[in-house]
Amino acid sequence: TATALKDLEITDLRVAFDGFTAVDGAALRVGPGDLRFLIGPNGAGKTTLVDAVTGLAKATGTVRFGPHDLLGRPVHRIARLGIGRTFQTATVFENLSVLANLDIAAGAARRPHTLLRRRRGVPEEIEHALETTGLAAARDRQAGVLSHGQKQWLEIGMLLVQNVQLLLLDEPVAGMSHEEREQTGQLLRRIGQDRTIVVIEHDMDFVRTFATSVTVLHAGRVLSEGTVAQVRADPRVQEVYLGE
Ligand code: ADP
Repeated sequence: TATALKDLEITDLRVAFDGFTAVDGAALRVGPGDLRFLIGPNGAGKTTLVDAVTGLAKATGTVRFGPHDLLGRPVHRIARLGIGRTFQTATVFENLSVLANLDIAAGAARRPHTLLRRRRGVPEEIEHALETTGLAAARDRQAGVLSHGQKQWLEIGMLLVQNVQLLLLDEPVAGMSHEEREQTGQLLRRIGQDRTIVVIEHDMDFVRTFATSVTVLHAGRVLSEGTVAQVRADPRVQEVYLGE
Protein backbone atom coordinates (compact mmCIF):
# COMPACT_ATOMS: atom_id res chain seq x y z
CA THR A 1 0.00 0.00 0.00
CA ALA A 2 0.99 3.65 -0.32
CA THR A 3 1.13 3.94 3.46
CA ALA A 4 3.62 1.11 3.88
CA LEU A 5 5.95 3.00 1.52
CA LYS A 6 6.51 5.53 4.29
CA ASP A 7 6.57 3.18 7.26
CA LEU A 8 9.57 3.19 9.54
CA GLU A 9 10.18 -0.32 10.74
CA ILE A 10 12.88 -1.10 13.28
CA THR A 11 13.62 -4.59 14.52
CA ASP A 12 16.21 -5.85 17.00
CA LEU A 13 18.16 -2.60 16.94
CA ARG A 14 21.40 -2.59 18.87
CA VAL A 15 23.92 0.17 19.35
CA ALA A 16 26.96 -0.25 21.55
CA PHE A 17 29.63 2.25 22.60
CA ASP A 18 32.83 0.64 23.83
CA GLY A 19 31.01 -2.34 25.23
CA PHE A 20 28.14 -0.30 26.70
CA THR A 21 24.85 -1.18 25.01
CA ALA A 22 22.80 2.02 24.62
CA VAL A 23 20.11 0.44 22.42
CA ASP A 24 19.50 -3.17 23.26
CA GLY A 25 17.12 -4.86 20.86
CA ALA A 26 14.59 -2.05 20.30
CA ALA A 27 11.78 -2.48 17.79
CA LEU A 28 9.04 -0.23 16.54
CA ARG A 29 6.87 0.38 13.53
CA VAL A 30 5.20 3.65 12.65
CA GLY A 31 3.66 5.17 9.55
CA PRO A 32 1.87 8.30 8.34
CA GLY A 33 -1.17 9.52 10.27
CA ASP A 34 0.25 8.23 13.55
CA LEU A 35 1.96 10.91 15.62
CA ARG A 36 4.40 8.74 17.56
CA PHE A 37 6.14 9.98 20.68
CA LEU A 38 9.27 8.32 21.97
CA ILE A 39 9.51 8.75 25.71
CA GLY A 40 11.58 7.31 28.53
CA PRO A 41 14.00 8.37 31.26
CA ASN A 42 17.29 10.10 30.50
CA GLY A 43 19.76 7.62 29.11
CA ALA A 44 17.02 5.29 27.83
CA GLY A 45 18.54 5.39 24.35
CA LYS A 46 16.07 7.66 22.57
CA THR A 47 18.65 9.91 20.92
CA THR A 48 20.85 6.95 20.06
CA LEU A 49 17.92 5.22 18.36
CA VAL A 50 17.33 8.31 16.22
CA ASP A 51 21.08 8.50 15.53
CA ALA A 52 20.95 4.92 14.27
CA VAL A 53 18.04 5.68 11.93
CA THR A 54 19.79 8.73 10.48
CA GLY A 55 23.13 6.98 10.09
CA LEU A 56 25.02 8.81 12.84
CA ALA A 57 25.36 5.76 15.07
CA LYS A 58 26.63 2.40 13.95
CA ALA A 59 23.97 -0.20 14.66
CA THR A 60 22.93 -3.79 14.04
CA GLY A 61 19.45 -5.17 13.45
CA THR A 62 17.19 -3.76 10.77
CA VAL A 63 15.93 -0.28 10.08
CA ARG A 64 13.68 0.04 7.06
CA PHE A 65 11.95 3.06 5.64
CA GLY A 66 9.43 1.79 3.14
CA PRO A 67 11.37 -0.46 0.80
CA HIS A 68 14.78 0.85 1.86
CA ASP A 69 17.22 -0.78 4.25
CA LEU A 70 18.94 2.05 6.10
CA LEU A 71 21.57 0.37 8.23
CA GLY A 72 25.05 0.67 6.84
CA ARG A 73 24.20 3.58 4.56
CA PRO A 74 26.08 6.85 5.02
CA VAL A 75 24.24 9.86 6.51
CA HIS A 76 23.86 11.76 3.24
CA ARG A 77 22.34 8.79 1.43
CA ILE A 78 19.83 8.27 4.21
CA ALA A 79 18.93 11.97 4.01
CA ARG A 80 18.40 11.59 0.28
CA LEU A 81 15.73 8.97 0.95
CA GLY A 82 13.59 11.70 2.51
CA ILE A 83 14.62 11.28 6.12
CA GLY A 84 15.34 14.35 8.24
CA ARG A 85 15.69 15.35 11.85
CA THR A 86 15.73 18.36 14.09
CA PHE A 87 17.81 18.89 17.19
CA GLN A 88 16.87 20.53 20.49
CA THR A 89 18.78 23.60 19.45
CA ALA A 90 17.57 24.79 16.07
CA THR A 91 20.31 24.95 13.47
CA VAL A 92 19.18 27.74 11.18
CA PHE A 93 21.33 30.37 9.47
CA GLU A 94 20.83 33.20 11.94
CA ASN A 95 22.08 35.96 9.63
CA LEU A 96 19.76 35.06 6.79
CA SER A 97 16.05 35.64 6.32
CA VAL A 98 13.44 32.95 6.82
CA LEU A 99 12.98 32.84 3.06
CA ALA A 100 16.71 32.47 2.40
CA ASN A 101 16.94 29.65 4.95
CA LEU A 102 14.15 27.78 3.19
CA ASP A 103 15.73 28.47 -0.17
CA ILE A 104 19.07 27.07 0.91
CA ALA A 105 17.38 23.98 2.28
CA ALA A 106 15.43 23.51 -0.95
CA GLY A 107 18.61 24.27 -2.90
CA ALA A 108 20.38 21.35 -1.26
CA ALA A 109 18.55 19.30 -3.88
CA ARG A 110 18.93 21.90 -6.66
CA ARG A 111 21.76 23.29 -8.70
CA PRO A 112 23.36 26.39 -7.18
CA HIS A 113 22.56 28.74 -10.06
CA THR A 114 18.84 28.47 -9.36
CA LEU A 115 19.21 30.40 -6.09
CA LEU A 116 16.22 32.53 -5.16
CA ARG A 117 17.58 35.97 -6.09
CA ARG A 118 18.09 34.88 -9.69
CA ARG A 119 14.51 33.76 -10.08
CA ARG A 120 11.22 35.54 -10.38
CA GLY A 121 8.95 34.76 -7.47
CA VAL A 122 9.11 32.22 -4.71
CA PRO A 123 8.92 28.54 -5.64
CA GLU A 124 5.69 26.83 -4.76
CA GLU A 125 7.21 24.39 -2.26
CA ILE A 126 8.71 27.29 -0.31
CA GLU A 127 5.43 29.23 -0.37
CA HIS A 128 3.73 26.09 0.87
CA ALA A 129 6.23 25.57 3.69
CA LEU A 130 5.80 29.21 4.79
CA GLU A 131 2.03 28.74 4.99
CA THR A 132 2.21 25.34 6.68
CA THR A 133 4.62 26.47 9.39
CA GLY A 134 2.82 29.77 10.00
CA LEU A 135 5.93 31.74 9.02
CA ALA A 136 4.48 33.50 5.97
CA ALA A 137 4.33 36.88 7.71
CA ALA A 138 7.89 36.44 9.01
CA ARG A 139 9.40 35.48 5.63
CA ASP A 140 11.69 38.51 5.38
CA ARG A 141 12.78 38.52 9.01
CA GLN A 142 16.28 37.50 9.95
CA ALA A 143 16.19 34.01 11.41
CA GLY A 144 18.33 35.12 14.34
CA VAL A 145 15.58 37.40 15.69
CA LEU A 146 12.85 34.76 15.56
CA SER A 147 11.37 33.36 18.74
CA HIS A 148 12.57 29.97 19.87
CA GLY A 149 9.31 28.49 18.59
CA GLN A 150 9.58 30.13 15.20
CA LYS A 151 13.13 28.79 14.80
CA GLN A 152 11.87 25.27 15.42
CA TRP A 153 9.11 25.79 12.85
CA LEU A 154 11.64 27.13 10.39
CA GLU A 155 13.71 24.01 10.87
CA ILE A 156 10.65 21.89 10.22
CA GLY A 157 9.94 24.04 7.15
CA MET A 158 13.48 23.35 5.95
CA LEU A 159 12.71 19.63 6.13
CA LEU A 160 9.41 20.13 4.27
CA VAL A 161 11.04 21.92 1.32
CA GLN A 162 13.50 19.04 1.08
CA ASN A 163 10.49 16.77 0.68
CA VAL A 164 11.30 14.88 3.86
CA GLN A 165 8.80 12.06 4.45
CA LEU A 166 10.18 10.76 7.74
CA LEU A 167 10.74 13.42 10.39
CA LEU A 168 12.59 12.67 13.63
CA LEU A 169 12.20 15.53 16.07
CA ASP A 170 14.18 15.95 19.27
CA GLU A 171 12.14 17.74 21.96
CA PRO A 172 10.64 20.28 19.58
CA VAL A 173 8.67 22.15 22.27
CA ALA A 174 11.44 22.51 24.87
CA GLY A 175 11.57 26.17 25.89
CA MET A 176 8.37 27.09 24.05
CA SER A 177 5.48 29.11 25.43
CA HIS A 178 2.13 27.40 25.93
CA GLU A 179 0.76 28.98 22.78
CA GLU A 180 3.79 27.94 20.75
CA ARG A 181 3.42 24.36 22.02
CA GLU A 182 -0.18 24.33 20.92
CA GLN A 183 0.77 25.62 17.47
CA THR A 184 3.58 23.11 17.20
CA GLY A 185 1.21 20.25 18.02
CA GLN A 186 -1.22 21.43 15.35
CA LEU A 187 1.63 21.74 12.87
CA LEU A 188 2.81 18.19 13.57
CA ARG A 189 -0.76 16.91 13.19
CA ARG A 190 -1.08 18.60 9.82
CA ILE A 191 2.22 17.47 8.35
CA GLY A 192 1.88 14.02 9.93
CA GLN A 193 -1.20 13.20 7.88
CA ASP A 194 0.93 11.99 5.01
CA ARG A 195 4.40 11.82 6.58
CA THR A 196 5.85 9.61 9.28
CA ILE A 197 6.80 11.48 12.44
CA VAL A 198 8.65 10.32 15.54
CA VAL A 199 9.05 12.86 18.35
CA ILE A 200 11.40 12.47 21.31
CA GLU A 201 9.66 14.33 24.11
CA HIS A 202 9.89 14.82 27.85
CA ASP A 203 6.96 17.21 28.19
CA MET A 204 4.16 14.84 29.23
CA ASP A 205 1.46 17.48 28.87
CA PHE A 206 2.43 17.87 25.24
CA VAL A 207 2.55 14.10 24.77
CA ARG A 208 -0.89 13.64 26.35
CA THR A 209 -2.40 16.29 24.11
CA PHE A 210 -0.92 15.34 20.76
CA ALA A 211 0.37 11.76 20.76
CA THR A 212 -1.68 9.22 18.87
CA SER A 213 0.76 6.57 20.08
CA VAL A 214 3.69 6.32 22.44
CA THR A 215 6.75 4.09 22.59
CA VAL A 216 8.35 3.95 26.03
CA LEU A 217 12.04 3.20 25.89
CA HIS A 218 13.93 2.03 28.95
CA ALA A 219 17.50 0.76 29.11
CA GLY A 220 17.61 0.54 25.33
CA ARG A 221 14.48 -1.59 24.99
CA VAL A 222 10.83 -0.94 24.35
CA LEU A 223 9.21 -1.17 27.76
CA SER A 224 5.68 -0.43 26.59
CA GLU A 225 3.80 0.82 23.55
CA GLY A 226 0.28 2.01 22.80
CA THR A 227 -1.94 4.99 23.39
CA VAL A 228 -1.05 7.40 26.17
CA ALA A 229 -3.78 5.84 28.33
CA GLN A 230 -2.47 2.35 27.63
CA VAL A 231 1.15 3.05 28.52
CA ARG A 232 0.14 5.06 31.59
CA ALA A 233 -1.84 2.09 32.85
CA ASP A 234 1.10 -0.26 32.26
CA PRO A 235 2.61 -1.32 35.63
CA ARG A 236 6.07 -1.58 34.04
CA VAL A 237 5.89 2.07 33.04
CA GLN A 238 4.63 3.12 36.46
CA GLU A 239 7.57 1.32 38.02
CA VAL A 240 10.14 3.12 35.86
CA TYR A 241 8.53 6.53 36.32
CA LEU A 242 7.86 6.11 40.02
CA GLY A 243 9.05 9.16 41.88
CA GLU A 244 9.65 11.23 38.73
P1 ADP B 1 18.29 9.47 25.85
O1 ADP B 1 18.24 10.22 24.57
O2 ADP B 1 17.15 8.53 26.03
O3 ADP B 1 18.46 10.36 27.05
P2 ADP B 1 20.83 8.56 24.83
O4 ADP B 1 20.50 7.83 23.59
O5 ADP B 1 21.34 9.96 24.71
O6 ADP B 1 19.57 8.54 25.83
O7 ADP B 1 21.90 7.73 25.65
C1 ADP B 1 21.74 6.35 25.94
C2 ADP B 1 22.97 5.87 26.69
O8 ADP B 1 24.05 5.80 25.80
C3 ADP B 1 23.37 6.80 27.82
O9 ADP B 1 23.82 6.00 28.90
C4 ADP B 1 24.51 7.57 27.23
O10 ADP B 1 25.41 7.98 28.23
C5 ADP B 1 25.13 6.58 26.27
N1 ADP B 1 25.76 7.24 25.11
C6 ADP B 1 25.12 8.01 24.20
N2 ADP B 1 25.99 8.42 23.25
C7 ADP B 1 27.19 7.91 23.57
C8 ADP B 1 28.50 7.98 23.00
N3 ADP B 1 28.74 8.66 21.87
N4 ADP B 1 29.49 7.31 23.63
C9 ADP B 1 29.27 6.61 24.77
N5 ADP B 1 28.07 6.50 25.35
C10 ADP B 1 27.05 7.14 24.78
